[in-house]
Amino acid sequence: MKELQKIVEEFIKTFGIKWDVTVKVHPGIRGCQIVSFAGRSPLHEILINTRPMLGQNLFDVAHEIVHALFAERIDPLFSGVMFNPAHESQVDHSMRFKEVEIAQAGIDIWINRLREEHYPGMMLEDVDAFAKAVFPRIMQGIPFEQTGIVALAVFIAESHGIGYGCSAIESRLEGKPGKKVRALANLFESLPNLEFIRDKDLQKLQRLVQKVAQILEFAIRPRIVEHETGYHVWTY
Ligand SMILES: [Zn+2]
Repeated sequence: MKELQKIVEEFIKTFGIKWDVTVKVHPGIRGCQIVSFAGRSPLHEILINTRPMLGQNLFDVAHEIVHALFAERIDPLFSGVMFNPAHESQVDHSMRFKEVEIAQAGIDIWINRLREEHYPGMMLEDVDAFAKAVFPRIMQGIPFEQTGIVALAVFIAESHGIGYGCSAIESRLEGKPGKKVRALANLFESLPNLEFIRDKDLQKLQRLVQKVAQILEFAIRPRIVEHETGYHVWTY
């Protein structure tokens, strides 16, 4: 844990993170996750599972810290899914929450682009680890759920970007799920860079999430609205 703290601190320095950062071990988490809270004492909370995070998972930690940077420089919506609190009592909120969360995962394209600028080579480590984890599933024809479809599309878009050979995986993507992966990968590859101008970047984020939701055939059209804190939340 001490060593992990040191690593987190190095990334905080590299990316110039200004808000407080806490790291908590949470066995229910896959890899790691971040949530950012704006306000009078702004804070990023990184949750990491109990697996040893050193070595091969450094790219995951750096990834979360870039989310923190986007939260500070653009809006906390770039580091987590937040909703209009009025939605929380709605009957189907948890399903819609899940759908927006899945659709918002396309943000990782922007996150990893910036991470690569500071740590060249991390993208390669990341896609290679993903390919090794996912290849056996693909070969056995295990179907992917929506989260997996988006993750595969991110992987393909990033592999194409750095010239990583992923044709063995791509050629196995069949049927409707395969079509969705391809459509999403095309969308991700053509994403314009963020400009660190809040309004413009939130528009780009909204457009992205709407398109992903459309490709995945979700019955929602998420929109970003301003919350009373001055930051932004999703509505649908
Ligand atoms: Zn992410």
